[in-house]
Amino acid sequence: MNIRKKIIAGNWKMNKTVSEAKAFMQVLLKELEEYSASDVVVCPPFTALQSVSDLLNQSASQVRLGAQNLFPASHGAYTGEISPWMLREFFCHYVIVGHSERRIHLGETDIFINKKVKAALSASLHPILCIGENFDERQQGLWKEKISTQLQLGLKEVEEQKLADCIIAYEPIWAIGTGKNATPEQAQEVHHFIREEITRLFSFQSAQKVRIQYGGSVTAENAQDLLLCPDVDGLLIGGASLDVRSFCSIILNS
Ligand code: PGA
Repeated sequence: MNIRKKIIAGNWKMNKTVSEAKAFMQVLLKELEEYSASDVVVCPPFTALQSVSDLLNQSASQVRLGAQNLFPASHGAYTGEISPWMLREFFCHYVIVGHSERRIHLGETDIFINKKVKAALSASLHPILCIGENFDERQQGLWKEKISTQLQLGLKEVEEQKLADCIIAYEPIWAIGTGKNATPEQAQEVHHFIREEITRLFSFQSAQKVRIQYGGSVTAENAQDLLLCPDVDGLLIGGASLDVRSFCSIILNS
């Protein structure tokens, strides 16, 4: 029996103004008023957190709020950054950490990302730790090494009892925003490997509890097949999460 509840998250990236975010949420909350089969998370840009949070607080839905990043300190001289406690003020439950776009464009390292994972956990936020290989690494058969390193460093010094609060998102870089999703077979192979690695780093019991999302060109057309894989516990969706009809259709069919 699968003990893991599926988790579908929308990563809006640098998209949607406050008014666009509000319009999206009004439709989403109406559609999902009584929905609870999978956990649903929306991750707007920082600028829309307040208004999305207000709408969530007024609704009976179980949709949760996530942020796209945090800085691993509680406060201080870090111009332009946002602390875990600031996210808690908006009633965020989740935070994306180590997205490949931040690793690539902002030079985030596994060591820095590990600090973010721990900072999120210490503020009772659920980190969504993104990992995944690039096209060359897949071509050269190096994906296991890459993922193993990202997991080992990203989860370093995370206490085992906090592990189930972490979500791992497998997002192959070659699949992000390219329209070329991993096949269900490829996703299952990597997700199974991730669970084995977590077993090695922690324990079998803990690995069974950790939810592993797939992300990379998920659409309303391919979502169901990906979710049928035994080790795929949810989806992290970029492009298709911007359109409320596609996002709802993925959730309602999950
Ligand atoms: P995509 O992005 O669904 O647009 O490929 C996924 C992600 O980057 O989280």
